[in-house]
Amino acid sequence: MNQKFDLIVVGGGIVGAATAYKFKQAHPTAKVLILEKESNPAQHQTGRNSGVIHSGLYYAPGSLKAKTCLSGYAQLIQFCEEHDVAHDICGKIVVATSPEEALNLRRLEERGKTNGLEGLQFLDPKESKEIEPYIEAQQSLWVPQTGIVDYKGMTEALLHRAIEGEGSLRLQTRAIKVHRLGSTRRVLTTSGTFFAPRVVVCAGLQSDRMARADGVQNHIRIVPFRGDYFALTPEAAHKVKNLVYPVPDPQFPFLGVHFTRMMEGGVECGPNAVFSFAREGYAKTAFDLSDSASSLGFGGTWRLFAQHWRYGLGEYERAFSKPKFLKALQKMMPTLKMEDIQPGRAGIRAQALDARGKLVDDFVLEQGDAALHVINAPSPAATASLAIADEILARLA
Ligand SMILES: Cc1cc2nc3c(=O)[nH]c(=O)nc-3n(C[C@H](O)[C@H](O)[C@H](O)COP(=O)(O)OP(=O)(O)OC[C@H]3O[C@@H](n4cnc5c(N)ncnc54)[C@H](O)[C@@H]3O)c2cc1C
Repeated sequence: MNQKFDLIVVGGGIVGAATAYKFKQAHPTAKVLILEKESNPAQHQTGRNSGVIHSGLYYAPGSLKAKTCLSGYAQLIQFCEEHDVAHDICGKIVVATSPEEALNLRRLEERGKTNGLEGLQFLDPKESKEIEPYIEAQQSLWVPQTGIVDYKGMTEALLHRAIEGEGSLRLQTRAIKVHRLGSTRRVLTTSGTFFAPRVVVCAGLQSDRMARADGVQNHIRIVPFRGDYFALTPEAAHKVKNLVYPVPDPQFPFLGVHFTRMMEGGVECGPNAVFSFAREGYAKTAFDLSDSASSLGFGGTWRLFAQHWRYGLGEYERAFSKPKFLKALQKMMPTLKMEDIQPGRAGIRAQALDARGKLVDDFVLEQGDAALHVINAPSPAATASLAIADEILARLA
């Protein structure tokens, strides 16, 4: 088998898949190789996320997130329409349940407008109920652009197109190290050695390790945070029509459980965010020595804990206590009952932390000795994946 390619992408999540696809679009005769260590693509963040197409409402104007979310949004919809990927632009409401949240909702609306969103509309409690009859809002914001999508299906469709011709998707193949050999790059893997003039590493929860091994020197560490979901029982699923979000805490925009109708059916509620002792272990008690040593041996983790222990404790309580999880959901839906929710699945966020214990908010791409690395691609990176891929290709040129 020929081991030479025009581009090698490490990681078969949606960012790697979008990068491979975009490269193939730009160079139709190119041979693209994607290396994925699992037996199927999209087994980690991409296949375990909320399935939401974000509109660009939340992100700091001018940030890479804001820029790529809007462009990625439009490209995602076009891709899904052209390639029959299941999606639905159903809109969402963001719900304020207190005067303080109503104030933050105003700020959010301003930010959304600055980011170029149209059609945002404040709703009074009665108008909210016309959209989501079981939700009690002091005020809410209607965001018509938000939707849901099958991200696994989208990743598979991207990969399928990326390897057309002589390309290849190698599953159960872990990239170990990338070397520079003059103008060529050599990628050592668990099932052979591959060569290409360009390598992009989109390794999600493993991104910092791959980057460090390639000489990237930064102060960022990936610290895994598990998000547990509950699901509405089939009998209670009618209580949510589409998507219901709380007003985010400006300090912790990813905290706050939401209700999400899923593309494959059913309604999920969550996720919370708890420190995980394993980067890719989804059980509540999962433990990995090397992952735990990496997180707990990093000063930034302890600084985060010291600054925000109260939040962390609340999230932990919700992880192990159904009544506490229910209470968080009842803030928006007071009539929700214990028997309406059942435990669901879990996802793990690759949360990049800096040495001061600050969450790295924006997307981060860095050049190593031999490869370009996507170091931080948190939400909305699935929505923005095709635009992140544009950014990656611009830096590869
Ligand atoms: C709980 C949760 C909810 C979220 N909700 C949303 C949402 O609703 N909307 C949204 O836009 N975003 C959401 N996100 C964020 C989004 O899912 C991620 O930003 C996105 O999936 C990142 O994609 P990725 O390809 O970078 O990472 P991943 O999907 O994690 O893929 C990385 C891949 O690299 C592989 N890999 C790693 N190391 C190697 C190696 N050495 N060799 C070979 N393969 C390797 C892994 O096996 C994995 O398949 C959510 C995330 C989480 C965790």
